[in-house]
Amino acid sequence: MKVLIMGASFGGMTAAYELRKRLSPGQCEIRVISKDPRFTFIPSLPWVALGSRSLDQISFDLAGSFTRKEIEFVHGGVTRIDPESRRVYTDAGEYAYDVLVIATGHRSANEAVPGLGPFDGPGHSLMSPPEAEEARDALQTFLGDPGPLVVGCAPGASCIGPAYEFVFQVDHLLRSRRMRHKVPIVFVTPEPFLGHFGVGGVGKARQFLEGEFEQRDIRYFTSAAVSRIAESAVDLADGTNFESAFSLFIPPLAGVKPLAEAPNLANPKGFVPVEENYRHQTFSDIYAVGVAVALPPVEQTPVPVNFPKTGHMTEQMARMAAHNIAARVLGNEKIARPLHAECILDMGDRAVMIKADPFRPPRNIARFSEGRHWLWAKKAFERYYLWRSRRGKTVAGEWGW
Ligand SMILES: Cc1cc2nc3c(=O)[nH]c(=O)nc-3n(C[C@H](O)[C@H](O)[C@H](O)COP(=O)(O)OP(=O)(O)OC[C@H]3O[C@@H](n4cnc5c(N)ncnc54)[C@H](O)[C@@H]3O)c2cc1C
Repeated sequence: MKVLIMGASFGGMTAAYELRKRLSPGQCEIRVISKDPRFTFIPSLPWVALGSRSLDQISFDLAGSFTRKEIEFVHGGVTRIDPESRRVYTDAGEYAYDVLVIATGHRSANEAVPGLGPFDGPGHSLMSPPEAEEARDALQTFLGDPGPLVVGCAPGASCIGPAYEFVFQVDHLLRSRRMRHKVPIVFVTPEPFLGHFGVGGVGKARQFLEGEFEQRDIRYFTSAAVSRIAESAVDLADGTNFESAFSLFIPPLAGVKPLAEAPNLANPKGFVPVEENYRHQTFSDIYAVGVAVALPPVEQTPVPVNFPKTGHMTEQMARMAAHNIAARVLGNEKIARPLHAECILDMGDRAVMIKADPFRPPRNIARFSEGRHWLWAKKAFERYYLWRSRRGKTVAGEWGW
């Protein structure tokens, strides 16, 4: 069986390693294609933007790690997928498959808000390594000539956590430099309340975050729809506007272009509709995992907020897809389990650990715990994850994020 995996981040890399654990090279040829030759630990991008990590410290070359596990790695961008003839076209050649795993993550839909940047407008973002580096450089310039700062998420955003991380960490940085009094901070979110996170809230997140924003003197606006980002101002759809010398916004996400363009493969946003075992709803030889998957919002909100797809959830999806693909060869039972999530949010001086099981309410477990030890746990987990994955190993599903 020939398995072709598109993408080599949390979804693609985990699917490849987990499949190799279950099937030998004689049973399954695995080929991974990625437009990026390096794996980057994306959850550390806020630290890159704040200047406490370099990209080199949180990434490694993929080719050697895959070769170790007898997995072929192709560095190339997928340009077209033909599900009927089971072929994928890339700028490095054309490849046939028996089973395809789509793990291409997202495209930032910056066009949703005029000015949402950085490369499309004056605003900043941290959704990708180049954007986080751009934000770092811009923040350094801002620190030399500080002014009002606006942080938030655009309508339809799903990856809400990094906006909270950035605003808390920048607040901490400014206080530690005794500059906070020069920087009024505003937080703007489409969430109906702080700590909604696109999942209807988790435990006492709302009360905790409201208290923390008040304590830190950060003004916040919920159910707010940012409508324009300019050099020195941020506008909301209801006519409110804020002066800003630096703004950073999380955009809404879409599926990558080749998915959006392939007939019947993806929904209008370019996300792939899957069954609960991560197999495509129409094409039985295609699986999708991670941010590329279409997952509906938990509820309608006055300003749209989408359901998040975290790295931890992406790994669970990749494990289930790998198990189910191997089951085609080994004849094991197929699995489909609800997703749970564990996440550590860095607040600068300490961190909070959020656990939700299942992620979609109602839940059996909704835990929200704060402390300095979570900050150390987050840093240790990043090192451990990079160490394991560089050696062709996955991290046990129950280990926290
Ligand atoms: C700033 C930030 C902080 C985050 N913090 C956390 C956190 O603390 N905890 C947590 O659990 N999650 C966190 N997340 C979410 C987490 O990073 C994502 O869930 C995870 O990266 C999704 O993995 P993925 O494999 O689906 O996609 P991605 O990580 O986006 O990877 C996509 C892969 O596909 C490849 N690709 C894309 N297009 C093509 C193409 N056309 N051809 C070939 N290859 C292609 C890319 O090169 C890449 O290898 C954070 C996200 C961001 C942006």
